[in-house]
Amino acid sequence: MVTKGDVKTKRRKKQAAGNGEIITLTNVSKAYATGAPALNGVSLHINKGEFVFIVGDSGSGKSTMIKLLLRELVPTSGEINVMGYDLVRIRHRKIPKFRRNLGIVFQDFRLLKDRNVYENVAFAQRIIQVSSKDIKRNVPSILATVGLAGKYKAKPRQLSGGEQQRVAIARALVNRPTILLADEPTGNLDPKNSWEIMKLLEQINENGTTVLVVTHNREIVNAMQKRVVTMKKGVIVSDEEKGGYIDED
Ligand code: ADP
Ligand code: MG
Repeated sequence: MVTKGDVKTKRRKKQAAGNGEIITLTNVSKAYATGAPALNGVSLHINKGEFVFIVGDSGSGKSTMIKLLLRELVPTSGEINVMGYDLVRIRHRKIPKFRRNLGIVFQDFRLLKDRNVYENVAFAQRIIQVSSKDIKRNVPSILATVGLAGKYKAKPRQLSGGEQQRVAIARALVNRPTILLADEPTGNLDPKNSWEIMKLLEQINENGTTVLVVTHNREIVNAMQKRVVTMKKGVIVSDEEKGGYIDED
């Protein structure tokens, strides 16, 4: 006998198998209680292993898109599929399992101020109940990857902005996510640190993680020659392989 649960599982496997697509937005709109819709009929397809910049003016809907991909928000209409999960119909109790496969980095780092570097990263593993033995192996390894091997004991305030963002990236990566989402990760950094963080994100992508980066950094976007999705007033106005930053006027 085929139970309801079996049917659901099969359906999800079928979607996930597909053609390497890992993120699919189909005609997605999101309206907040007030104002014009933040997203208005957005469709976007991203394959496993891609590196994608999302650019556009302030207020164009970039952070709304990131929040929809995290299932922090639900669209007003349209369909969103991430890693085979239907984010419109996903059950609440399945959301933590879904998010386990996502790493997220913000402009303002969001570190625990009273914990040291090691603890900030280990925390992400404790939440998902990784054993102490594995935490002791994984945290130093990821801190070395982001170039912070000598800083385990430092508190966030003892670090530069660039170093704090590396801690945040280590925390986002320690659970080995399939997708890394970064919303203006270099927004608070000087040009040198911005470049270093973007190069680190590129390296993470080269190791197989799908990476989406929201940014205003025109110089870096133009230099890195990645896929660039440009948003304006809630719609995608261009989507180019090896693209550049499109000027507003
Ligand atoms: P971006 O990240 O590109 O700057 P956002 O996605 O943050 O853009 O915002 C898109 C639009 O939605 C803006 O007009 C913004 O004012 C509005 N908006 C964002 N969050 C909310 C909210 N919680 N309530 C009402 N309006 C919001
Ligand atoms: Mg934003």
